[in-house]
Amino acid sequence: MKNFILCFFLLFSTLYAKEENVVAVIGGGPAGLSAANICQEMGYQTVVFEPKAEFPLEDSVSFWPGIVSPKWSAIIKNLRESLTKAGGTLLDKQVSDISQDKDNFIISSGREFYSLKAVIIATGKKPKASSFLYRRSDRILTNVWTRKIFSPKDSVIIIGQGEPLFHACLNAARGAGHVFIFPYQGNAPTLASLTKIFPSVTITRNVSITDIGADKRKAFVTYSQDRSKLYKEASYLIVAEEKDPASDLVANLCSIDSSGAIVASNDTGETSLPGLYACGEVTTNAALTGVQAASDGQKVGFAVTYFLVSKGIAPKKQSVAPLPPLQPPPEKKPEEQTEGLF
Ligand SMILES: Cc1cc2nc3c(=O)[nH]c(=O)nc-3n(C[C@H](O)[C@H](O)[C@H](O)COP(=O)(O)OP(=O)(O)OC[C@H]3O[C@@H](n4cnc5c(N)ncnc54)[C@H](O)[C@@H]3O)c2cc1C
Repeated sequence: MKNFILCFFLLFSTLYAKEENVVAVIGGGPAGLSAANICQEMGYQTVVFEPKAEFPLEDSVSFWPGIVSPKWSAIIKNLRESLTKAGGTLLDKQVSDISQDKDNFIISSGREFYSLKAVIIATGKKPKASSFLYRRSDRILTNVWTRKIFSPKDSVIIIGQGEPLFHACLNAARGAGHVFIFPYQGNAPTLASLTKIFPSVTITRNVSITDIGADKRKAFVTYSQDRSKLYKEASYLIVAEEKDPASDLVANLCSIDSSGAIVASNDTGETSLPGLYACGEVTTNAALTGVQAASDGQKVGFAVTYFLVSKGIAPKKQSVAPLPPLQPPPEKKPEEQTEGLF
C-alpha cells in the first residue's frame, strides 16, 4: 500500500512538476547552501530542505574565538538569495525520511514525496541527550547559546563538556558576578585561558555531578568529590551539552561511525551509498567553523555534479557564464636599478 501511494505521488509529481529537481540538499546551513549553489550553478536543478529560515547562531557569531566577525546571518541570507536567483528552490520543510527506489532517492517531508537523483546530507549537529535535560525551570538553561544577558548580581553554575562549555562560560563570564564551572571531564584545557581573562570564573575539576535542581530563587548542583558529597547554589545553572552529528536520517542507508558522524570521503563527501553525499558538521565529531563547513559544501557540490555526469545525466543549463580562458601572466619588467639609493 505504501509503495502504491509512493508510485502515485511520484507519477503525479513527474507529470505536473514544472522543472524536475535533480539534487536535494537536506539542511540549509553554510555547508548545505554552499553545496546547493554549486550544483545549481553547474546546471542541476537543486532543492534545499531547511525548516529554519533564519541562521540560529547570529547573536553568538561575534564571540567565536579567532574569527573576525563574519556576519553569518548575512552570509546565509546571501547564499539563500543567490540560490533562488540561479533558479534553485528553498523549501521551508523538515525531511522525515530518505529511501531508495531503483536509481532514485525518495525524500519524504510530512505527506509529500520527492524523487531525486542525488542527495546531499548537511544536517549539522543536534544536542546530545542528557540525563539532566528533563529538568525544566527558568533557572536552568539548557540552551548553551542562550541569549540571556547576565548581570553582576547573578551567579551562574555551568556543568558540561567541550566547546559548548567554553562558550557558555564565555557568555556568562561577560556579565555575571561569578561563574562556577564543573566540567564533566577533568580535562577542559581551553577553560584555563578564560580564568586568566575573567577573575570571576572558578573551575572545580574531578567531580561527579549527582543531581541538579532549582526553585524560584536559585539553582543548585550536588556533586561528589573525594568521597565527599557537596552542594553549590547560584542564581542560574546552564547545562552545556556537547552536540552529536545529526545523522539519524541516513542511519539505515550508509555507514556511520561510533560518534554518529556520517563516514564520507574527505575529498568528495561520497558516503558508502552511491549518490548519497554528506558535508559540513554532520561528517565529523569535531566542531567546524562556518567557513570550513561552507568550503566543504562547495567541494561536495562539485563532486555531485561529476557523479551526475558519470551517470549520463547532463546539466540543463549553465546559469553562470563560463570562466574566460586563462591568459599567460604579463611579462615581468626588468627590475629597476636601486643601487646607490641606500
Ligand atoms: C554558538 C556557536 C557559535 C558559532 N559561531 C561561529 C562564528 O562566529 N563563525 C564561524 O565561522 N562559525 C561559528 N560556529 C560554527 C558554525 O556555526 C558551524 O561550523 C556551521 O554552522 C556548520 O555548518 P553546517 O552547514 O554543517 O551545519 P548547520 O549550520 O548546523 O546546518 C544544519 C542545518 O540542517 C537543518 N536540518 C537538520 N535536520 C534537518 C532535517 N531533517 N530536514 C531539514 N533540515 C534539517 C538544521 O535546521 C540546520 O539549519 C558557531 C557554532 C556555534 C554552536
